Amino acid sequence: MLRDLIIDKELFMELRERALTSEEGENSPEEVELLEKAVFKRLKKKRSIKKYKKLGVTKGDLNEIIELADIIGLDTIGGPSNYELAKAHQEWCTICGRCCTESESIFIHKDELNILLTFNPELENGIIHNKLYPEHFELKDIQPCKFMHPETKRCAIYDSRPQVCRSYPLVLIDSNGKAKNIINLRSECNYSIQLILEKSIILFDEAIRRLQDKPRP
Ligand code: SF4
Ligand code: SF4
Repeated sequence: MLRDLIIDKELFMELRERALTSEEGENSPEEVELLEKAVFKRLKKKRSIKKYKKLGVTKGDLNEIIELADIIGLDTIGGPSNYELAKAHQEWCTICGRCCTESESIFIHKDELNILLTFNPELENGIIHNKLYPEHFELKDIQPCKFMHPETKRCAIYDSRPQVCRSYPLVLIDSNGKAKNIINLRSECNYSIQLILEKSIILFDEAIRRLQDKPRP
């Protein structure tokens, strides 16, 4: 009910289906479900539905808002983009090292290759061409990445690390010919959970505002 105040139901279903079946961002339905559960727990602490029960708001509404936060950028309702939110809250990364341990590929765009090799000449033998994307190279020896310190989880080439590492948990995708940052929905990444939580809070508040502004029958 609440979600319908922000987005048309059919459009939501279409976007959700597309997001879950897309390989971009590698969001498996199981992983998304786990992440949504983690966000739900935190959202319940931030926004009590008791306060809004008289307006007909339910726990199901919270879940629906979280699903919406997974798939739309807040810039569609005049809020910050995924990039702006992530940049403003780098403290949400707990430096757990999972992204440096579990990522299946660390892409390097051809335009960043020179600078990477200038600062890390030893990388020359640690980079290979990406077979699928001709404009990209990728790091060899990942899972875990050999630049991650096994104990501190710090990156040995932090200041010149590839762009994909700087942006994580955002992933750049092509959306109808335009580049768009989506959040990689990882249930064990605190950064990702907090980003979806923050978006959910903003969407929830906006939906409640619209609900309260709605003319009574
Ligand atoms: S981005 Fe996420 S997975 Fe990577 S270190 Fe930070 S909290 Fe961990
Ligand atoms: S280059 Fe650094 S930030 Fe990127 S995966 Fe390796 S250790 Fe992590």
